[in-house]
Amino acid sequence: MSEKPAQIKTQLDWSGYESYGSFGSFDFGGFDESEAAPAAGGGYAKAAAVCMGKRHCQNKHTGVMCPSYRATDDEKHSTHHRAVTLKAALDGELGEHPFLSAALAEAMEYCVSCKGCKSECPHGVDMALLRVEAMAQRWQQLGGIPLRERLFAFTPRYAKHLKHLNLIGALRLRVPLVAKAMQRWLGIAAQRSLPKAAAQDFLSSVPRTLFGNAAAREVVLLVDTFSNHLDPQIAQAALDVLQAAGYTAHIAQPAAGERALCCGRTFHSNGLIDEARAEATRMLDVLSPFAERGLPIIGLEPSCLLMLRDEYHSLGLGERVGKVANAAVLLEEFLAREHDANRLGLPFRSIPEKVLVHGHCHQKAFGVMPAMSKVLGLVPDLQVEFIESSCCGMAGSFGMEAEHYEVSMQMGELSLLPTVRAASEETLLIANGTSCRHQIRDGAARESLHLAQVLQRSLQAR
Ligand code: SF4
Ligand code: SF4
Repeated sequence: MSEKPAQIKTQLDWSGYESYGSFGSFDFGGFDESEAAPAAGGGYAKAAAVCMGKRHCQNKHTGVMCPSYRATDDEKHSTHHRAVTLKAALDGELGEHPFLSAALAEAMEYCVSCKGCKSECPHGVDMALLRVEAMAQRWQQLGGIPLRERLFAFTPRYAKHLKHLNLIGALRLRVPLVAKAMQRWLGIAAQRSLPKAAAQDFLSSVPRTLFGNAAAREVVLLVDTFSNHLDPQIAQAALDVLQAAGYTAHIAQPAAGERALCCGRTFHSNGLIDEARAEATRMLDVLSPFAERGLPIIGLEPSCLLMLRDEYHSLGLGERVGKVANAAVLLEEFLAREHDANRLGLPFRSIPEKVLVHGHCHQKAFGVMPAMSKVLGLVPDLQVEFIESSCCGMAGSFGMEAEHYEVSMQMGELSLLPTVRAASEETLLIANGTSCRHQIRDGAARESLHLAQVLQRSLQAR
């Protein structure tokens, strides 16, 4: 029997959905008024109610949606079931404390926040965002967040110390008992390698502005936590490409002495909304003046940069978000746009090699893959092939979590990992996402590159 649900105070801003349904029966993105939105939750409930139940999310053949359904072949792990369960929760069918219910936790458990549904579901169900709100409500009712999730969420705050932990990563690989102990105490899968930090980060030694040709445009390079501490060679490659094209590059940095900028992704995806909002506010303080001047803000890690265009709108941070969102582009989008405008002067040289490209889920969800194709097409003699893949399965910290390891690998085994294993050793691999590169390393024992590194290689070729 359903109980009358208490109204909930949402932590994210769902006001954009509040007018849904006010324009009669079904319209694009709206919901059928004959099916009332759940009783509690306001705009949040309406965002769940846009699921129309036609189950395109239970497709297994094209696109990204829905990787957990594809891997498990179980309706219980589809976008549709998540939406139905959330609607039941907000309708009082899951008890007085629906965000603590096992049914909701189970429904959400394998959602990897790939954003496939937001772009591929005919009604644009944004389950990744709906899930974050459910998680935030859960932590609020529990009075805190578990240690492992806290560790993952706060990665940007201790990232500068990660290099001192490389020893533990190496020890885990050599001594299985250490990996097993970490699994027992922290819930980190024993089969996983830990991310390895670079000896020297990128941002601490780079000038704030690198001047290009007098006539060239100014751009802003936004170096995320992962490129800064784990893969500074990627940030350097991007800078080399921008400098080779003559741009004056401003490196996005906070005031001297403050901790490095962070988009807030790790906090947001672990349901720590106040911390995500605090990081986003610091980011906007630095980036807004550049956006006001019309400068492009160029990012490297898809999930970090695209957070500025997407999830920042859910944080209730006002008008500055729109301006920064409009300026935010991934490197490949920026270069493709400059090429189309006949403004890109890069002396690419031949790389007579084959490259296999795996697109990050968020690149696919935001329509970035054509830009990848266009930019790679500028490199003479490079044979480019795109892997037809859904989510790699690592999905941020999902694949590191002991209870999710098997499903994470099943996602990778659907097509990405077998394709990589079948490739010759000479074949280059491109994966712009940090966690995609991690999954390929763990699952196929191959290293992959960021697009920026392949472009750098072409510029340096003899
Ligand atoms: S989530 Fe989207 S595709 Fe799946 S049943 Fe609902 S409306 Fe259809
Ligand atoms: S975000 Fe991805 S994993 Fe989650 S429901 Fe949507 S398609 Fe499925």
